[in-house]
Amino acid sequence: MSGEILVLAEQIAGVVDNVSFELLNLGRKIADSKGMRLSVLVTGHQTESLQNSLIETGADLILVADDPALETYSAEVYSTVISNVVKERSPAMVFCGYTYFGIEMSSAIATRCQGTSISNCLDLNWDGDQPVVVRPMFGGTLMIRIEMNGPAPYVISFEKGALPREAVEGKKAEKELVAVKVDQSSLSTSTLEIIKAAAGEIDITKANILVSMGRGIGDKEKIPLIKELADALGGAISCSRPIADMGWLGTEYQVGISANYVTPNVYIACGISGASQHVAAMRDSGLIIAINKDPNAPIFRVAHYGIVGDLFDVVPALIKEVTA
Ligand SMILES: Cc1cc2nc3c(=O)[nH]c(=O)nc-3n(C[C@H](O)[C@H](O)[C@H](O)COP(=O)(O)OP(=O)(O)OC[C@H]3O[C@@H](n4cnc5c(N)ncnc54)[C@H](O)[C@@H]3O)c2cc1C
Repeated sequence: MSGEILVLAEQIAGVVDNVSFELLNLGRKIADSKGMRLSVLVTGHQTESLQNSLIETGADLILVADDPALETYSAEVYSTVISNVVKERSPAMVFCGYTYFGIEMSSAIATRCQGTSISNCLDLNWDGDQPVVVRPMFGGTLMIRIEMNGPAPYVISFEKGALPREAVEGKKAEKELVAVKVDQSSLSTSTLEIIKAAAGEIDITKANILVSMGRGIGDKEKIPLIKELADALGGAISCSRPIADMGWLGTEYQVGISANYVTPNVYIACGISGASQHVAAMRDSGLIIAINKDPNAPIFRVAHYGIVGDLFDVVPALIKEVTA
């Protein structure tokens, strides 16, 4: 394989998201070993600081799509602009994060550019000249290797936090502006407003001890039991995404790639399966204790201590032990 690898830079509130650096890291290694060129595309408005933070992160070229039409995120506008860049440059591969942005962009770009899309990947290696991606199946209980042999570009989204994070040798990237043509009259949607989440009561990223609950608690009425253990340990509660999605707790309590990354000294996961999107954001915790009634739950792969059992037996027993 030869040609270009194009990384789609992602930003959160004007700051380049870590997943972009992870993608550049992988892209650099592939570009070096396969004699390819690595470019990163910055999309937005007034992107000077984004461009600057990407200058020595492994890319050969920073492509800049900067236009007032890109000030407020719209999947339709962004995917149109990015697809135009992809059509123009014909990269062999396009890398993005398996994030809300990447999920929307990868499917739209692969469709518009008639390429091959594969999502939620953890790694990419080679079978000769054939790229092979590794991705989880069935909530991470199985891994699967997939050979990509459809039409280019291969649009691949990678799990945030899954790729190695070591620094790449700094080489200074060139910059190139790309033309942004958006025909507002042809758009079928327009973004009216970005509604920000309300500020939370607590900041779970600062807690030393987190007792985290997942769908395994089964009922909102069971939250006080988890809180009781957290209080007994002098910690705070947190949760997986389903608990926040159901509105049982606010997103400020959510651990995961779409919410908060946490590194407490102790993380106790109660009834959490250990999906990659959750694990990526808590696996650097000092001590991980998992309570799950399924001995094959993926959370046990990252836990230092695992308790196979019903959390409604285990948690009261722990509270009793701690408060005795
Ligand atoms: C783009 C994207 C972003 C995402 N972002 C996030 C994110 O930020 N955070 C996040 O958490 N998820 C995120 N997810 C969702 C993620 O894939 C999982 O669906 C989610 O983490 C599962 O939550 P859970 O472990 O609580 O529930 P489940 O997967 O349903 O697991 C429940 C677990 O509880 C166990 N259990 C049930 N009853 C008991 C009991 N009585 N005692 C003990 N154990 C019990 C079960 O064995 C099971 O393992 C994201 C997904 C996508 C696609």
